[in-house]
Amino acid sequence: MGFIFDAEWLLSGESIVSILWKFARANGLPGHALVRLMDRDIDPYEGVEPIRDVIDLKHLRRMLLLPGNVLRASLLDPGQRGRYHPVFPYCRQCTSLGHHSVTYQMFSENRCPAHRQKLETKCQHCGQEAPYILNASLVGSPYRCARCGALYATRSPPAFATKPAMRNEHRIAIARHFHNRMAGGFRLGIDDRDLQLAGSGGRGGA
Ligand SMILES: [Zn+2]
Ligand SMILES: [Zn+2]
Repeated sequence: MGFIFDAEWLLSGESIVSILWKFARANGLPGHALVRLMDRDIDPYEGVEPIRDVIDLKHLRRMLLLPGNVLRASLLDPGQRGRYHPVFPYCRQCTSLGHHSVTYQMFSENRCPAHRQKLETKCQHCGQEAPYILNASLVGSPYRCARCGALYATRSPPAFATKPAMRNEHRIAIARHFHNRMAGGFRLGIDDRDLQLAGSGGRGGA
């Protein structure tokens, strides 16, 4: 379809929202256009739940040029309905580096595995929470509050450079945590590489 995307921009367990934010920024797409691209039958302003059984994965794969396992991992498990935050939780530091993990959505998660910061749901600016629904306002507000548009962190992440931006030990902590929580079911090349780095002592991070 003539869009650009690179799996190298993603860390282990990157959420579908984070993936779509990168895609939107790389291709200059507004939220409503992006939701319509995902599925013509979805009303972009109503949106759709980011749950595996309601998303057209085949279509999404073709559109984002990402492996199916990366996309499946980025979506919530239909069997776990009711155990997820209905709003968008975030780590401020991860957000400033362009990362949002699918694990943050679980009720049992309180802290970011990399930065050890408490996950937040309220916008620092307007105090509101954004529903975790793939609609025009959430998908169209990369790293910003979908309600008021204020940045979640003090700065905007670099456009296409999650890996160099995130320190090596933090990438490894995120990969490990994702494996521990979501485990086994997803064979992800990028995870394996991060975990190999962990085994060998790793390269120097930024
Ligand atoms: Zn973090
Ligand atoms: Zn706000």
